[in-house]
Amino acid sequence: MADQAFTVTEDDVRAMLLAADSIAGQAGRNMLAKVLKGSRDKKLLALGLDNSPAYGYFRMLTLDQITERVDWMILNDFLAIDRNRDMPLLVFTDRGWDIHIENMSELLLKQWETWDKTVPTDMTYLKDRNRSMILLFLEKVAHTGDARYIPLLQQWAPLDYRKVREAIGKVIDHLEKGHSEPLMLEGAHRSFYCTPGEPIIEPRGSERLKCWECGKRFEWTVEEQDKFRMRGWNPPKRCESCREQRQKQREAWLWE
Ligand SMILES: [Zn+2]
Repeated sequence: MADQAFTVTEDDVRAMLLAADSIAGQAGRNMLAKVLKGSRDKKLLALGLDNSPAYGYFRMLTLDQITERVDWMILNDFLAIDRNRDMPLLVFTDRGWDIHIENMSELLLKQWETWDKTVPTDMTYLKDRNRSMILLFLEKVAHTGDARYIPLLQQWAPLDYRKVREAIGKVIDHLEKGHSEPLMLEGAHRSFYCTPGEPIIEPRGSERLKCWECGKRFEWTVEEQDKFRMRGWNPPKRCESCREQRQKQREAWLWE
């Protein structure tokens, strides 16, 4: 791989995932780059993508520089290209989604920290969000042990659906009684790919995959990974010799 002329920070990754949330499954790499640029593109504005909290995050960079970083997200397994549609769409990988959900719940909590909890607040913005993220956020509120959050919870509860309302009730109870053990809410997001507080950017290297056909382990090199990810392909299932074997069989069959 060519030497990378830029660095991507953990905050950059989180911002790009945040921007991706507004376009995932609807648009491709170019649209994500435009959102991060803060572009006044007509289609972007028509889709309301200028409302993304990450709109204009990279406004100091050129579109080409931003696209390089978007591609870096794909190569590093935070985002993926889905080519099974009419046009290639950008989607979250499991790892990218995991980090994003964790990040969203963290951002909501940080927002609450800064608010004056005694002032009545419109809580409708929390309704109809991803349920597992909202429940994770509620766990985090419970974990603060801070009873000053109770008025905010009380204003939110009547607006939301029964399942969330019940969870809010548990958090209020938890904070009122000052329980010390963590509150676990059923259906809250559980991370498989990231641990809060640990770095999310990992150095890349070749991966060891297992061949479906002969069962042998084989190296999936970084160059090969780049090729597969940018084309929106799934990781290879077979080792190189099994792949060649299959190719030969297919050719033989064609010429029979
Ligand atoms: Zn094999």
